[in-house]
Amino acid sequence: MKIGILSRNPSLYSTRRLVEAGRDRGHEVRVIDALRCYMDINARTSAIHYKGENLTGYDAIVPRIGASVTFYGTAVLRQFEMMGVYPLNESVAISRSRDKLRSMQLLSRKGIDMPRTGFANKPGDIPDLISMIGQPPLVLKLLEGTQGIGVVLAETSKAAESVLQAFMGLKANIMVQEFIKEAGGADIRCFVIGDRVIAAMKRQAPEGEFRSNLHRGGSASLVRITPEERAIAVKAARTMGLNVAGVDLLRSARGPLIMEVNSSPGLEGVETATGKDVAGAIIRFIEKNAHARVNKSRTRGKG
Ligand code: ADP
Repeated sequence: MKIGILSRNPSLYSTRRLVEAGRDRGHEVRVIDALRCYMDINARTSAIHYKGENLTGYDAIVPRIGASVTFYGTAVLRQFEMMGVYPLNESVAISRSRDKLRSMQLLSRKGIDMPRTGFANKPGDIPDLISMIGQPPLVLKLLEGTQGIGVVLAETSKAAESVLQAFMGLKANIMVQEFIKEAGGADIRCFVIGDRVIAAMKRQAPEGEFRSNLHRGGSASLVRITPEERAIAVKAARTMGLNVAGVDLLRSARGPLIMEVNSSPGLEGVETATGKDVAGAIIRFIEKNAHARVNKSRTRGKG
């Protein structure tokens, strides 16, 4: 098969591993920088040109679209889809997963449990919003944040109120969330491919920190997940319409809570922590599904 990896940087671990795994299995694999793609959009044909060349003959595209280039990256992926190329994750699913609030709403509609979350527009509504979510401490999250940046723990309602007001004053979208204390600064990353969690790791925040992101100094280790955790992770990925997803969950007193569903989960942390060949599993999934054009975007057209 001819597989394109939509990635800005061929030397990134995830990109390198996908290229390697694809070539090992006898495929022609090429890294394509979405920002260097330009599109011919008209009623008769759809085409993508890349550094002067017309890109044709691709069977599948693996999108590795960074958060900062979501708009252009998903437009390029959509163009490939219009040309009949199989996307590992569909552009519409990536767009919806990039919006934290929209994701939470879609998950809640399916009865998937999550930390209780509130969102408001007017500073005047903040005190009531806070009391609606519950007792402090509370977690405040910037909608546009990634890698733990823009995630704040407010110890008191007053602190939560002033942080929310400050961000609203800066026109930033911020949500308030119930703090899951019993998670103990740890979360579980479930790597979902199709209907299976193929690897899972526990990420533990360093001492004195509640955010377990590896970019914030968290450490990763192999973890055994429960059947309930497995089922909720797969359901969350399916709800977002993602074939491949990194589903983050918190272990709470009332069971697993979904925190986030990531459409371009990194491979380095999970392959290192679990010793699993995740890149190879992704390529095998493409081999199985690209020709059948199986996609799971069951929420297609519904937001
Ligand atoms: P980002 O998308 O920036 O990584 P997250 O929502 O994943 O932001 O939050 C970063 C980290 O903070 C999580 O990995 C988790 O360890 C911790 N965290 C986030 N929300 C909560 C919460 N409601 N209760 C407890 N810990 C949380």
